[in-house]
Amino acid sequence: MAGPWAVTGPADVQPRPAPVYRGRFAPSPTGPLHVGSLLTAVASLLDARAHQGQWQLRIDDLDQPRAMPGAEETILRSLEAHGLTWDGPVQRQSEHFERYQAALAELARAQRIFYCRCTRKSRVRGQPYPGTCRAYRTQRADAAVRFEPTATPLHFADRIQGTVQINLLETTGPYIIWRRDALPGYALATAVDDGADTVTDVVRGVDLLSETAPQLALMQALGLTAPRYAHLPVAVDSQGVKLSKQAGAAPLDDGRPAQNLSAVFRLLGVPEWVVAEAGTVAALWANAQEHWSPARLRGRASVPSPL
Ligand code: GLU
Repeated sequence: MAGPWAVTGPADVQPRPAPVYRGRFAPSPTGPLHVGSLLTAVASLLDARAHQGQWQLRIDDLDQPRAMPGAEETILRSLEAHGLTWDGPVQRQSEHFERYQAALAELARAQRIFYCRCTRKSRVRGQPYPGTCRAYRTQRADAAVRFEPTATPLHFADRIQGTVQINLLETTGPYIIWRRDALPGYALATAVDDGADTVTDVVRGVDLLSETAPQLALMQALGLTAPRYAHLPVAVDSQGVKLSKQAGAAPLDDGRPAQNLSAVFRLLGVPEWVVAEAGTVAALWANAQEHWSPARLRGRASVPSPL
């Protein structure tokens, strides 16, 4: 006769405990990293290490028309050259299509979506989407899919930017989660991946702060556990313009990792003596890890890039 241990079942069917900390860096492969994207990657890895956590690398490559051939390899090489190493295999959104389709089907069952053919031109800028296509609850060709947020305001405590409260119904109205060109939208793909990969902490640029509530509303509707958020100040040039690939930010020089890292650690508020003391990439990381404190960036929306 089986002993009492037999009733508990094999270990691999026991619920897995939630990770203590799992962070991620999710670049889009639209070009090489620049100092602004290095800043995001470094801050999220520092935060993961400060919590003895894991750090995932996810390539947000759904938007194939915007992808640049070879950008993924260039990004991976740059991260490695700067001493950033990730846990587990590289994730790619282009390989997660089924997840997104399942989420869409779930939202359809819950009657939270409708099919919209409104053009951007027909919309009044700055006004919430008025719900013109709300009656189209069944799939139709050549339509985007919009998600209906509830009337309950959402709030979350951002670790850097403070408390955010927003009523999506009043500000954006129903928003696009699946594009007219048949690609999952950024909000849905990010919400589903962060939830499915049990990401506990998202550290990214403040330019994505306004994208957070739409993601949280989707996570709520899908029963996914929301991560904590820390939205970093973005690196700006001497004109105050955010460094970006579109604005022509210079690609990182992988031959100068210690200089690049020093610049980024300074922007992140790591004390000068900590940066100055370390000569090598490894020493920089070891020192910065001990002195990382997101509280030093509290409320800041931008930092001036020296590069
Ligand atoms: N892939 C997005 C970008 O490169 C970031 C996604 C995120 O961190 O949520 O801007």
